[in-house]
Amino acid sequence: YFNKETLLFLDGEWVNAQDGKTNLYSQTLHYGAGVFEGIRSYKTDKGVSVFKAKEHFKRLHYSAEKMHIKLKYSVEELTDLSYELLERNNLVDAYIRPLVYLGENMALQPTEDVHVMLCAWEWGRYLGDTQLKLMTSSFQRPNPKSCFVEAKVSGHYTNSILATTEAKQKGFDEALLLDMNENVAEGPGANFFFEKDGKLCTAPLGNILSGITRQTIFELAEDLGFEVVEKFFKVEEVYQADGAFFTGTAAEVAAVGSLDNHSFNLPWEKTMGYQLAKAYQNCVHTK
Ligand code: PMP
Repeated sequence: YFNKETLLFLDGEWVNAQDGKTNLYSQTLHYGAGVFEGIRSYKTDKGVSVFKAKEHFKRLHYSAEKMHIKLKYSVEELTDLSYELLERNNLVDAYIRPLVYLGENMALQPTEDVHVMLCAWEWGRYLGDTQLKLMTSSFQRPNPKSCFVEAKVSGHYTNSILATTEAKQKGFDEALLLDMNENVAEGPGANFFFEKDGKLCTAPLGNILSGITRQTIFELAEDLGFEVVEKFFKVEEVYQADGAFFTGTAAEVAAVGSLDNHSFNLPWEKTMGYQLAKAYQNCVHTK
């Protein structure tokens, strides 16, 4: 993720990534009480563009607010810093990771000592380019009555790590997690869509992260004349699907080939997901 030359932004200064230091009594390190984002930049005709920067930094503000963390940088300042970060590191097609973490305090109430870090690196498509073999996870997504599921909180990702690790150990590529009512929710780091008889379907908001890529897919589907239904559904409905895909900033639009070894009816190239994956690439490289 970094080498000798890499620079990152830390609390108002540009520091060498290898010299970046943190307090080992950090509340975030001990309890996971930190918030973060995952953003991508792309080469466009007009130069490098941070895709939906405003939406990402608004979500960072939302996440911080939910965790009672005072974030001192505005959406605009964070956007400008992202561009400076890319320029200082000579990056164009990159993944940007802003992290808001807390300083020294072992109590269970957020300290006022808030740190902001931004780093970036070149990162290929997170889930790769091959059709993913999914398994239904034995882990549920966090319950909205036990945390703010729409906030991107560091600690929430222990659930994701457990789910992905279980899937890989069982010979699958990735997990698909259910919500507390046994409806399909999302992946460990991506939202999930399936298609059946020319209609797309995805879980409604409530028990999932409100993905920015998910929203982009809604916009692109409308342009293409594809209907998207937001509803609760069970794994059995997915077993009968014609196709499926994950959406996320890191994963982009990732083809899913099967769930629990039930393959989908259509070859990927014949699906709406395939067309949306192409439209997404076009979108991020032109906006
Ligand atoms: N769900 C989860 C749990 C995630 O971690 C992510 C990645 N941020 C997503 C969905 C997709 O969100 P986005 O499209 O905003 O990257």
